[in-house]
Amino acid sequence: MILIKCPYCGERDQSEFSNGGEAHVIRPKNPGSLSDKDWGEYVFYRNNPKGIFYERWVHSHGCKKWFNAVRNTSTDQILRVYKVNEKRPDLSDFKNTLKSPSGEPLVGSGNFAVKK
Ligand SMILES: [Zn+2]
Repeated sequence: MILIKCPYCGERDQSEFSNGGEAHVIRPKNPGSLSDKDWGEYVFYRNNPKGIFYERWVHSHGCKKWFNAVRNTSTDQILRVYKVNEKRPDLSDFKNTLKSPSGEPLVGSGNFAVKK
C-alpha cells in the first residue's frame, strides 16, 4: 500500500488519488498561431523520465483538490507534495539513488532533453 500525503487532508491511501501527468506544462500564449504539429506536441507530448519527476495529482476520492508532487518514477516514492500555487522545489533538493547504465544524470533524467 502506498500512502500519499494530500497537502489539504493529510496522508491517505493511493486509491483515493488520480495521477494527472506531468506538472508545470505551460499553455502556449497564442495557440492560434501554432502549427498543427506544435499544438499536437503541446497537447499530447509529455516527458516520461526514469527518476525524479514533477507530477500533478488530484485527491479524486477526497477533497477533489489538485496538487503537485515530486515522485521518483523508478521507486514510486513520493518525495514531496506541494500546492499548485507554491513554488516547485528545485531538482537539486533530491538525490536520485539509481545509477543509470546509459549515463543519464543522477538527478532528473536525460529524457528532459528529448522533448522538442
Ligand atoms: Zn485532499
